[in-house]
This record gives sequence, structure tokens and C-alpha cells, in this order.
Amino acid sequence: MAAHLYSEISSRFPERSKTAFETQDGGKHAYADVDAGAARMAGALAALGVQPGDRVAVQVEKSLQAVLLYLGCVRAGAVFLPLNTAYTAAEIEYFLSDAEPRVFVCDPARKDELAGATNAAKVAHVETLDANGRGSIAERARFLPPTFDDVARGPDDLAGILYTSGTTGRSKGAMITHENLASNARALVEGWRFTRDDVLIHALPIYHTHGLFVAINTLLMAGGSMIFLPKFDAGQVLSHMPRATSMMGVPTFYTRLLQHAGLTQEATAHMRLFISGSAPLLAETHREWRARTGHAILERYGMTETNMITSNPYDGDRRPGTVGFPLPGVSLRIADPESGAVLPAGEIGMIEVKGPNVFKGYWRMPEKTAAEFRPDGFFITGDLGMIDRRDYVHIVGRGKDLVISGGFNVYPKEIETEIDALPGVVESAVIGAPHRDFGESVMAVVVRTKDSTLDEATIARALYGRLAKFKLPKKIVFVDDLPRNTMGKVQKNVLREKYGTIFSD
Ligand code: AMP
Repeated sequence: MAAHLYSEISSRFPERSKTAFETQDGGKHAYADVDAGAARMAGALAALGVQPGDRVAVQVEKSLQAVLLYLGCVRAGAVFLPLNTAYTAAEIEYFLSDAEPRVFVCDPARKDELAGATNAAKVAHVETLDANGRGSIAERARFLPPTFDDVARGPDDLAGILYTSGTTGRSKGAMITHENLASNARALVEGWRFTRDDVLIHALPIYHTHGLFVAINTLLMAGGSMIFLPKFDAGQVLSHMPRATSMMGVPTFYTRLLQHAGLTQEATAHMRLFISGSAPLLAETHREWRARTGHAILERYGMTETNMITSNPYDGDRRPGTVGFPLPGVSLRIADPESGAVLPAGEIGMIEVKGPNVFKGYWRMPEKTAAEFRPDGFFITGDLGMIDRRDYVHIVGRGKDLVISGGFNVYPKEIETEIDALPGVVESAVIGAPHRDFGESVMAVVVRTKDSTLDEATIARALYGRLAKFKLPKKIVFVDDLPRNTMGKVQKNVLREKYGTIFSD
């Protein structure tokens, strides 16, 4: 086991002239350039006085230079801390004050606006990097040597801190170690059969674990290439497919591609693998995709704190609506949320995981960390799920989205699946609204197909007899779209805020 993530990845690099990244301007960046660029960034950080274990916080647009900054940070033994580009100055002030980075790199256009935040957090060095890879940190790195001796790190040393999106309370910094990342990349290279021949379409943001760690670490460890796109655009992604072999996406990538007339069997003929994660992929989307392209999307499950946990099989049945099996080395169990007692197959409970993929804890939150681990080291994910008779893991929803009506547990996914299957429905979200007698009552928010005239009474009739009475929605509202975050997750907290009170009776 190599201790250092970058040392391990680079020890597996292919011939140095091979392309690692192809950028949108058509530029090809060889492994040799990536290695030299990362060395220069590491040198620039070291010259700023960055010591092993120091945090380097980064809020920048997606660019190759931003990737080099990530790799350089890891090489310098520092802790990479990427921040969502949508965060406001007030939010940035919280993250900087909490993480106390030695260096903060931001977009030059926002440097003045963020001065209050960086001053308040007493950040020693504020550097810049824009969407074209230009800025003060790139200038500092430019003329430095193309080699750098990676600062020695142990497997439990931090390589990154990723703040969770935190829909309730303040977001928490998940401490991710070198071995968390290396073990996960190893498992994914093998499990998803990535090789030097692979060309991955990379259209995800790189401030999140999916686009940053899952995609980049895995492809670099395999010695493959990435077509590095600034953002997702269905037409553009389709235009790259004839040269690509694989794509990692969130479910919205797939639903948007399905709306594009260019998505055909021929257009995807060169692709070997479509992977989806970060939010549930509708079974319907899986089926439609297969019918249109002949490919079965491979759905996997993971989270910031745990990296990737389960995956549908590469060979074998990729079952719609499931997230497959635990990755090698990862233990997963379903437990009673209160007592922690392990539940038998088929029962719904809390998903708990343990393995080299699981993070070290929340930054400077020992109590929060202790509360989310069982005494035997299993991490309580907060996701409710079940293991079926064929050992496939199913996710039923977040624990906090569970609706408890009249003392009965209602799992939103079960109701959503029934509603989604009705003709004229695109998708739905089930939430709980405060109710005088029942505590909470079931409410459904439904998106109809364009010309559908489906109404509340028709849905109610269709569900009657299919679901126990306490699970039937007491109110149904129709909307054009469900609110989603950038990773495609339906924001149920937004729905609860908007409809929770108007629904309550
Ligand atoms: P994040 O930390 O932003 O990656 O979010 C992790 C959460 O996303 C998990 O705890 C799950 O609730 C959800 N998630 C990730 N992958 C899937 C999936 N394939 N199906 C359903 N939910 C998922």
C-alpha cells in the first residue's frame, strides 16, 4: 500500500507523451505536462510557506490549472479544500474561518468582494485563478522547476476536506485521507475496468467529490484520458461520444440527453460505459436509456464522507432502481436507526458502512463525528435502504426525508415509484407536511408530461388499493420542475418550505 495518493497515481502513469486531458479549446495535455504542472503548483505553494497539513482553500472555475492546483496541493502534503463556485461571500467567510487555510485561491473577479471574508478569517495568502487558468498562483508556478519531491504522507494523513452541502445546520468539513482516496480509486479502476484506452467525458463540476475524486483520481490511476468540459451541455457531450469510451454523470445528464434527438444507438456506439450517481436515477430513465442506446447505465452510490460505497456490477445485471453491491473491502449493513441492531435482508433501515473508503471525521467537530459512528467503527450514512434477496442494495431515501404519519413510517420512494409509473407523470417528490392529528401527512409534488391533463383525483384513484391508506397522499400539487441542486439532488427541504405549510390542515 503506497501512503501517498499522488506518488501512487504517478507511479502508474503511462508513457509520458500520452494525453491526460483534452480541453475544450482542443488543447491536448500529456501526462508529462500534468506531472510538471502539478510539480510547479506544489513548488508555488511551498514557496508561500505551505506546510504539510496546511489547508489550501479554493473557489475557482473548472480548468486544467485548477486540477494542477489540486494535484500540486496533494504533492506538497497540504489539504485541498474545494468550495462550490456558487457560495456567497458570507458563506466563504464561514468556511475560511472554520478551516483556517494558509492559502485561499479565488477567481480574480471576486477577489475584492471576498476581501472582507479573507480578512476576517486572517488568511495569510489570497491568490487568484480564472476560468482560463490565469491568475497569480499560475504566475507564481510558471517558472518553477518541473519536478518536485512529494512531501511524505501516511495513509491516515489528510489529502482533502470537503464541506458537505448541509441542508440542515452548518455544513461540516469531511476529512478525507490519502488512503481513502487511493483505495477508492484502486477499487473503481478495477470494478469499472478502466484502462489506458479509456477516454472519459468529464462534464461534472470539480468542487464536489464526484467530479474531483471519483472521476479524476480514477482516470489518472488508470492512465486514461479525459475530455475536460467546463460544464454539461447535451449537444456538446454528444459530439464527443464518437471519440470517448465512458462518462460519469448525475441523473440529470441522462434525462437531458434523452431529450436530445441526437441520442441514438449510433451516437453511443463507441462508448463502453455510462455511470450515474450522486442522486437517484429513476428506473424509468434507466429503461428509456437502454431502449434508445442499447446501454445499461451503471448506477453507483457514494457520499462525500465515504467516497464510493456500492456499484452495480460491470459484468452481470445492472438493475434499475438499485445501487448494486458494496465495493471490494467495503462492509455495508442495514441497521435499526435507533438501536443500531443489524436488520435482516429485506427490511428497511439505516445504511451503515465501514472500510478504507470511510472518512476520518468532521473537521474540528469531535462530538458530531462521535455521534455519527457506531462503537464498532461503522459510519451512519443517514440514508435509509434495504438489501434484497439477490444482495442488491436499494436506497429508500434520506433518513430526514422519512415521513412519519400517525406513527407509521412512510418511505417517500415507495410512493414516488407508484406515482412515477402512472401515464402522464415525468417524476414526483413525496414530502411530509405538519398535520394536527397525524404529526405529518403525506404530500406529493408531481411533474406531468407536456400535454398531460392528469389531475389530483385521477392520481388518488390510481393509488387507492395499491398503497396502504396511511401512505396515500393527502394533497397533490403539480409543478413544472422539481428544485434540484447542481448535483441533481431534489431539494426536499425547499419543497417542504414552500408547500409544507399550505398543505397542512
Ligand atoms: P454527496 O455527499 O453530495 O455526494 O451526497 C451523498 C448523498 O447522495 C448520499 O448520502 C445519498 O443520499 C445520495 N446519493 C448518492 N448516490 C446515490 C444514488 N445512486 N441513488 C440515490 N441516492 C444517492
